[in-house]
Parts: sequence; structure tokens; C-alpha cells
Amino acid sequence: MDCIFCKIIAGTIPSKKVYEDNLTYAFADIDPKAPVHLLIVPKKHIPSLAAIDTADTALVGHLHAIANRLAAEHTLSKGYRTVINTGADGGQTVDHLHVHLLGGRQMHWPPG
Ligand code: AMP
Ligand code: ZN
Repeated sequence: MDCIFCKIIAGTIPSKKVYEDNLTYAFADIDPKAPVHLLIVPKKHIPSLAAIDTADTALVGHLHAIANRLAAEHTLSKGYRTVINTGADGGQTVDHLHVHLLGGRQMHWPPG
């Protein structure tokens, strides 16, 4: 499958790994938008949040639990932002579900 995140998980494209378990892989974003910018992805190829089914509910929660754990490990004690972009209008550019973890600076609202 021609999916860049599946290739990262498989190790055929290099990444700066920060976490891995049997369900999840997390790595540094190549174009960081904050001092800490990590991506938490399921190992299972799910194209987007719009494609999840009821069997994926726990997995989506797990991605967020890992984001919280990584935030603590990166000393984001003042807070952080998690983002899932979905589809063209949502600004999604890689069609493999991922949670952005952003921190280390003041975030603004609303996002662009
Ligand atoms: P999104 O626009 O929400 O789909 O996010 C995709 C993210 O993947 C962007 O923040 C990109 O900078 C990031 N990205 C794309 N290719 C790579 C790569 N090879 N390694 C790490 N991050 C990547
Ligand atoms: Zn994929």
C-alpha cells in the first residue's frame, strides 16, 4: 500500500520514533509547528477519523492516552493541544489516521 505512515511504521521510511506498542507508533513530525510536535498513529491502516467503525473506539481512545503520556514525558505540564485533521476541509494531508500532539508554546484559538 502506498501510504507514507504505513512505510514509517514498517521502517522502510526513517522516522524519529518516540513510542511504540502493539497497536501504536509515535514519531516526530518532519515539519514541526511547535517546539514539541509528535504524531501518534495506529499501526492498523485507517484512512481517517471518518473511516473508523465501532471496533476502533478503544483504539482512538488509546491514541489519546498515549498522547497524554508523551506530553508528560516531554514536560508539557502547562498544557498541550491534540488535533485530528479529517478530510480535505479538515486539512488532512496524509490519509492514515493520526493524532497531532503540539506543545511547548501558547496555542491560539480558533485554529486557522
Ligand atoms: P495532516 O496534515 O493532519 O494530515 O498531518 C500530516 C503531518 O505529517 C504533517 O504535519 C506533516 O508534516 C507530517 N509528515 C509528512 N511526512 C512525514 C514524514 N516522512 N515524517 C514525519 N512527519 C511527516
Ligand atoms: Zn497507512
